[in-house]
Amino acid sequence: MERSFVGRVSFRLDDPSPTSDHALEAEILRRFQRYGIPLTVAVVPFGKPEPVRTLVLDDVRHIIEARQSGDIEIALHGYRHLQRTRIGGSPSEFSGVPLAEQTDMLRRGRDVLQRIFGEGVTGFVPPWNTFDGNTLKAVAAAGMEYLGAGFGAAPSLRQPAAPRIVPKTCTLNQREYERACNEARRFAHGQPWIVFVFHPDNFVEYRDPSAEGEPAPWLTLSLLETMLEQLRAEPDIVATTLQAAVHADGVHGRLWNPAELLWVGRLVPRAGWRIPTRIVFRRSRLHGLRCLAYRVPGNRD
Ligand SMILES: [Zn+2]
Repeated sequence: MERSFVGRVSFRLDDPSPTSDHALEAEILRRFQRYGIPLTVAVVPFGKPEPVRTLVLDDVRHIIEARQSGDIEIALHGYRHLQRTRIGGSPSEFSGVPLAEQTDMLRRGRDVLQRIFGEGVTGFVPPWNTFDGNTLKAVAAAGMEYLGAGFGAAPSLRQPAAPRIVPKTCTLNQREYERACNEARRFAHGQPWIVFVFHPDNFVEYRDPSAEGEPAPWLTLSLLETMLEQLRAEPDIVATTLQAAVHADGVHGRLWNPAELLWVGRLVPRAGWRIPTRIVFRRSRLHGLRCLAYRVPGNRD
């Protein structure tokens, strides 16, 4: 008998790179291993400082070790995580960059990750979740399966042959975590899929104090542990990597597709994201949506 569940939850940890806080990342990975919760790790393949340094095995030994006993997907997170342009007030490494160059950056970045982690890097997460139509084409041209961004993706970006769009729907913090799980239970008919995104510098244990102008860190390792422990105790919520969820489409037939994304995106206005999520869920039942977005105010990409 098919297992009944109220929804899917995915966790996406962004930013491991040649120069990131590897000790803290190892601690984060240990928590996911301890509770058997899958995790998608979006890794930056080249360093930010000049001269450019390519990611090497020693930079990610902790991730490789964690993968030996944990369900960890590796996704590609940008190229050097450099701000090259701005789009809609947000920094971007890809938006506005010519298609050929974007495709080249994706292929080279993915090749670096696959040399270290092995085949199967199929997701691309653009830094700051910013991209343009050429990024979607580049993802497809590089033979990758999904773009990990794009909650408010414009209709013009969605082509029939475009890769799947798997946006961040929620920043990981205690309040939103509880709200998201409560809403998931409450609107179980929609079988929502919640994608939590977090970064090492969201933790108070991060090696560098937060830069001026940046929000103070709000996560701790013990808070993360509490959240994962709670999730483990939820029999009706399935935790999955982004890649596994994309592959599961057709099995449950309830995953996000661009048309549904468009619909939800239109319902929630860009300015402020103030419409209560429950309206999205209620309306979605009327329209028979099968997979739903969950987005809360105050997200930081
Ligand atoms: Zn990032």
